[in-house]
Amino acid sequence: MYVSTRSVTGDKSTASEAILKGLAPDGGLFIPESIPRIPEDFTLSKGAWYAMYQAMKPYFEGDELEGDLEEIAKNAFSFPVPFHHNEGKDTLELFYGPTAAFKDFGARFLAFSMEKLLEKRNRDLCILVATSGDTGGAVASAFHNRKHLSVKVLFPKGRVAERQQKQLTCWDGNVESYEVDGTFDDCQKMVKDAFMDSSLSGLSSANSINLGRLLPQMAYYVYASSLYKEIYGREAVFIIPSGNVGNSTGAFWAKAMGAPIKSIVLAVNANRTIPDYLETGEYRPRPSVETLANAMDVGAPSNMERLFAMFPSVEQFRENVASYSVSDDEIRRTIGEEYRESGHIICPHTACGERVRRDHYADEDTVVVATAHPAKFERIVEPIIGGPVAIPKQLFDILQKPSAAKSIGTDYHALF
Ligand SMILES: *Cc1c(COP(=O)(O)O)cnc(C)c1O
Repeated sequence: MYVSTRSVTGDKSTASEAILKGLAPDGGLFIPESIPRIPEDFTLSKGAWYAMYQAMKPYFEGDELEGDLEEIAKNAFSFPVPFHHNEGKDTLELFYGPTAAFKDFGARFLAFSMEKLLEKRNRDLCILVATSGDTGGAVASAFHNRKHLSVKVLFPKGRVAERQQKQLTCWDGNVESYEVDGTFDDCQKMVKDAFMDSSLSGLSSANSINLGRLLPQMAYYVYASSLYKEIYGREAVFIIPSGNVGNSTGAFWAKAMGAPIKSIVLAVNANRTIPDYLETGEYRPRPSVETLANAMDVGAPSNMERLFAMFPSVEQFRENVASYSVSDDEIRRTIGEEYRESGHIICPHTACGERVRRDHYADEDTVVVATAHPAKFERIVEPIIGGPVAIPKQLFDILQKPSAAKSIGTDYHALF
């Protein structure tokens, strides 16, 4: 069962209830009452999706989705999860999903789970998403053609990268895109206002704090750390480019389940909230600053509540969490170094992780997590490496599709 980070002894929800609710009724985030162990029969021999299914299984014990979980995992995790090997200083590539970033894992699992739950209830839901980049594309792609579900994506006019915008606007059928004449904050406010309007019903969100997005991010760490251990016979330090720390929370849950992870390091950009907390012992969320790794431009990480639930005191936090900040200059330098030394092309987010490896873990067994394909950030990467970045097939397919968005102002009534 699942409880809220704000009342761990309060009301309990099943996994399915937590997925449909998104946020706990008291405004907290859902966490498991206790973290389960990796199942005894866990195996790598049936492929990544099956290992991920096994890692998630104990979280759905007795749940109404228990019997559907294998099928959901098979459909949601239908793309490779490869390592880029470099003698134990490896990179875990989480960008082979339809929108070429790790968010595809969580968004797809959430979409297939919600579809099953709504089918059982014979209900429909409309998902509202405000996006400044990656999230909207992953959600739109994941929910496209899912039954009982429709999506309205809101993005700020002229403030989204070209290829990102394409990923928001190339869908038809049950996915509609709205180009808002305003800022990202205006988009978020429109979504909030719509949720508050009691004359509207059947609305939901697909936030990155949803349990259904977090559990897959736990599962690929169980898989990848076990595979690393099998290959090298040792445990690695996992270095994770982080913003809202949802991806890294998944890694902490995996480690608590017994996954062979030596330690977990959060690589952040110039948004220093977490390194500052480790240094000063005082937690001070703040407005975000813009960087080259824009999907990590977060000053008040939404999943910190979940990490604080695991490590409540600053001493416990320091014992378990390391974090380093990387500047835009260092991001550029690292993309260049990595390319010149080995021909390996990395995105600006992944570059934060690579910088932290080079500066702080050079002598250790390490895995840097590659959170997006570099072709999504060609405007930054191509001038640095002095040539084109090949576009992966899944991104190429999206870029070929016709796109359409409705232009609207900042009044949410235009959405309905
Ligand atoms: C969302 C995102 C991140 C940050 O992940 P969090 O779970 O918010 O910490 C890092 N890199 C890329 C490419 C992303 O899209």
